[in-house]
Amino acid sequence: MKAAPFDYVAPGSVAEALDTLAEAGGGATLLAGGQTLMPLLALRMSQPFIIVDINRIEGIRGIGHTADSTRIAAGTRQAVALADPQLGAAQPVFIRALGHVGHHQTRNRGTIGGSVSLGEPAAEMPAAAVALGAEIEIHSRDRGMRRVRAEDFYFGPYMTALEPDELVTAIHYPRWPADTLTVFREVAQRPGDFALVGLVGAVHVANGKVARAGLAWFGMGPTPIRARQAEAALLGTAAGSIDCRAIAELAVADTAPFDDSHATSHYRRSVGRRVFARTLDEALKTRQAA
Ligand SMILES: Cc1cc2nc3c(=O)[nH]c(=O)nc-3n(C[C@H](O)[C@H](O)[C@H](O)COP(=O)(O)OP(=O)(O)OC[C@H]3O[C@@H](n4cnc5c(N)ncnc54)[C@H](O)[C@@H]3O)c2cc1C
Repeated sequence: MKAAPFDYVAPGSVAEALDTLAEAGGGATLLAGGQTLMPLLALRMSQPFIIVDINRIEGIRGIGHTADSTRIAAGTRQAVALADPQLGAAQPVFIRALGHVGHHQTRNRGTIGGSVSLGEPAAEMPAAAVALGAEIEIHSRDRGMRRVRAEDFYFGPYMTALEPDELVTAIHYPRWPADTLTVFREVAQRPGDFALVGLVGAVHVANGKVARAGLAWFGMGPTPIRARQAEAALLGTAAGSIDCRAIAELAVADTAPFDDSHATSHYRRSVGRRVFARTLDEALKTRQAA
């Protein structure tokens, strides 16, 4: 199929892009890596009046680090972020999750901002942002800049806090302590497919006890879902006496999986229990081995 007709602009600056979005009155759609949008256009599931191509915007790509956070500009290619050694050291959980996003070929074009903005419930990047406590930097011409916590950004499948005249310019990931444990596993039919069940997060143990935990599911509900009950149960617990199966029950209790052509909600819950218990157990064992 061919896309429905649309106008096309490729602004050179954020201000130009925001102007077009504001003037378009909700009829414009942003084009970043096109890995999701182009198929939607071709299938006519998306029919905007104007496509605003953000790939030529000055400063829309790049990674910056401070002592306590990492800023990833929205247009940064997934492959570029994945290959960045400083980012790998500063944000190991993010990098572990990013390595499971699509394929080498799709990551060459796909952007971090595109994946975070889309709000696909089975996507790794939105869940990683929620688990790590990231903030999403958003600009509009008429209201300036605002930052939204990732956990307040997703309302439903492909439904986010973004207004039609807004552009995500960057995502800010807090730095967790260097000895933070990475928790990541996803179950998918084939490598590169969207996850049927996925878990991402970070657990920091200090003086033998869990001092901080950020855990989120993907593919287990209409949005990325924080495993709040599990996080609360972990806090203050001695790392050596954590009952991973009991914590897994609490983690699954926070989910709202659905039935679809790929899997039933029952399947997702039962696999989720095992994924959580095994992945947390393995992460804790890495600490003992260290
Ligand atoms: C074969 C295949 C397998 C894939 N597997 C996975 C997978 O396993 N996991 C996964 O997470 N993804 C997967 N994807 C999707 C891929 O990661 C996309 O790159 C990503 O979903 C969207 O990023 P993009 O830069 O390509 O955005 P685009 O496709 O250009 O845009 C996607 C949406 O986000 C909006 N948007 C883009 N940038 C911004 C911005 N800065 N501000 C506001 N809105 C914006 C667009 O308007 C559009 O609505 C796969 C894609 C393909 C083709």
